[in-house]
Amino acid sequence: MPEIRSESEDIALIDMQATTIAFIGLGNMGAPMAQRLLEAGHRVIGYDTSADALRVLSEEGGVAASSAASAASDADVTVLMLPNSEVVEAVLDSGLAAALKPGSILMDMGSSEPLRTRALATKLSRERSVELVDAPVSGGVKGAVAGTLTIMVGGREYSVARVTPILERLGRPVAVGDVGAGHALKALNNLLSATHLLVSSEALHVGARFGLDPEIMLDVINASSGRSGSTQSKWPDFVLPQTYDSGFALMLMLKDMRIATGLARQMGLPSLLGEEAVAQWARASEALGPSADHTEIARWIPDESSRRL
Ligand code: NAD
Repeated sequence: MPEIRSESEDIALIDMQATTIAFIGLGNMGAPMAQRLLEAGHRVIGYDTSADALRVLSEEGGVAASSAASAASDADVTVLMLPNSEVVEAVLDSGLAAALKPGSILMDMGSSEPLRTRALATKLSRERSVELVDAPVSGGVKGAVAGTLTIMVGGREYSVARVTPILERLGRPVAVGDVGAGHALKALNNLLSATHLLVSSEALHVGARFGLDPEIMLDVINASSGRSGSTQSKWPDFVLPQTYDSGFALMLMLKDMRIATGLARQMGLPSLLGEEAVAQWARASEALGPSADHTEIARWIPDESSRRL
């Protein structure tokens, strides 16, 4: 595992111990992440289109800004925790890019598209002298609250070292390559995660119909070679209790899967199983609607399977 911290960057690291951070996108993930940064002693100036999200930030000791641009104008680091590349680019074009301080770092912690991230990094560096670091996360809302996220960091070594002390308050940062590498790895990880959830759910429903107890099945699978995050966490935490409240939307998972299969095609290695998984998740998204939690795919599978008999 590459070591991020570089001793030659000690001064920059110290600078980042208590700094002004703009935080744009205070949703399911952004809100608890901003809260952890406040608890670590940073000054956090936040912006979200939701008035409720801004109110919660103020109650926790942050500063609510009236726009993304005003949040970022005084910030050393601007964090984005937005739904996708479209929204990232729209927010930058609507005044954020022009407001970023030269020499500051823009850190996209959402799950965006790696090639768009690369293009954006070149543009921001040339036009604004701003470095882009991509630092998408895995670990869900639970991990955001607990500060145990896995953070896949892409960017120039010096910039990555500068933001490492901030990222360590949110979880475990791992340097994975140049800018865009974090977003590529995150999308590929979620293609795996989504495919695991699909096939685990098929197996668990078949077993239950045969008469097996799903709890016993999970116990055995989790001590065997079929285990995954879906059997270790998603099924026991959200599917069996029928709460379906992981805080990660089905449409966001589908977006990540499409990024990964698109990347596969761009690399000349189309993902055959991945494309089939995307088709199934797209059908689930249509059936379950835009506000569905991604774990709800587990309860949709038996309906879909019988429909296709
Ligand atoms: P979310 O929908 O809960 O939050 C997104 C926030 O962005 C919302 O509060 C929304 O109001 C705000 N927003 C949208 N457009 C905006 C704009 N133009 N200006 C300012 N704010 C705007 O989504 P989330 O679950 O927090 O996910 C955020 C990102 O993190 C996504 O890229 C997602 O794929 C990724 N992610 C989510 C999870 C999870 O478990 N929820 C886990 C890992 C990664």
